[in-house]
Amino acid sequence: MTAAAAPRLLHRTATIRLRLTRRQTTRCYGLLRSAGDVWAWLLDSNRQRRQQGQPAISNYQALCRELAKSDGFGELSTVAARSVLRRYADAWFQAANRRRAGQQDAGFPRRKRALVPVRCYHGTFTIQGRRVRLPVARGQPALWVRLARPLPYPPQQVRAVTLLADGGRLWLAVTAAVPVQPHDTDPGRVAGVDLGIIHPYAVVTQDAGLLVSGRAIRAESYLHRADQQTRQTNAARRAPRPGQRGSRRWRRHRARLRRVEARHRRRVHQGHHQAAKRVIAFAIQQRVAILLVGDPKGITDRDAGRVQNWRLRQWRRTHLLQALHDKAEQAEIVVRLVDERGTSSTCPACRQRVPKPSGRRFCCPHCRFQGHRDLVGAANIAAKVGGGTHKRWGADACGAPSRRHRAGAA
Ligand SMILES: [Zn+2]
Repeated sequence: MTAAAAPRLLHRTATIRLRLTRRQTTRCYGLLRSAGDVWAWLLDSNRQRRQQGQPAISNYQALCRELAKSDGFGELSTVAARSVLRRYADAWFQAANRRRAGQQDAGFPRRKRALVPVRCYHGTFTIQGRRVRLPVARGQPALWVRLARPLPYPPQQVRAVTLLADGGRLWLAVTAAVPVQPHDTDPGRVAGVDLGIIHPYAVVTQDAGLLVSGRAIRAESYLHRADQQTRQTNAARRAPRPGQRGSRRWRRHRARLRRVEARHRRRVHQGHHQAAKRVIAFAIQQRVAILLVGDPKGITDRDAGRVQNWRLRQWRRTHLLQALHDKAEQAEIVVRLVDERGTSSTCPACRQRVPKPSGRRFCCPHCRFQGHRDLVGAANIAAKVGGGTHKRWGADACGAPSRRHRAGAA
């Protein structure tokens, strides 16, 4: 063990909107379309090979040799075209692995796509402030694109950039190698985390609790739903009959819907990232080494009524968990999933079974313990693996029932 050991690196990706002139937009779409052509060419040539009784080519190096024989694809540079080969080879490899593991329906790539993302690796692009130069085929004028917001990483840490279209807009996904930042944690300190809809995260350590408000995320979801319903009512008349091609207005309406949907998804994800950031700041301040998260798996399997089902879908718990996991990893905090069964119906003070509270407030009929329902859940999750009693925050919550909650809600 040396003190000068290089810090561990993690890869993180930020997707940044591009600000482009009309000409740049045309060229970028041209690149994505050419990448789609490469993809289609791969599918077609392998189908041909199979029809002639030859084995399909899925190895990256072999595909590169095939690419060298082709006449090129529009403005797409060789390095960018190779990234499509890499994508194809990876998809093939994963499908083969899943087949080998007994999953017979694992599909090899076969669907053509009009636009395929273009990935450029370190050394093939240039970053100057907010401007990025993407590689293009030899003989073509340089293609510079402009980021709508500053790069969240130092330029020298950027390892790859990916040009992509989502919701009718062009984006650059920037992947950087980010060093892990270890903190002064106490290996014995454990916090329980309860994922929820009202509060995306409720966190409890041995002596403190944090409730992160999900109000902004929920407001965004409700606004989005109201907006969507109005749109649907207004557009219903223009909907084409089955088998009929929609009018130009209808297609524009569909494009707008996709754009709105993508924006909504981004806003919710942004809300998750901010919430997760607060949890990690709290964990660092509390010197927590392990976050135990109640595993919500299976929660969307049961039918809970129309409105609650919609809420659960909007919750996007996978992303919520991923956001926490990514930020914890960067702070060298371990995230462990634990079974959350029974955690909302056990008293954290006397460990007796209690009927599930109907409101936000948890109240034990045996020992008079009171607390916020989500914090009780988090405390019980922490108690599942031991690490002391996680109830001291509760005594406080009993004296001043709403102060802690207000502190958590921003
Ligand atoms: Zn009790």
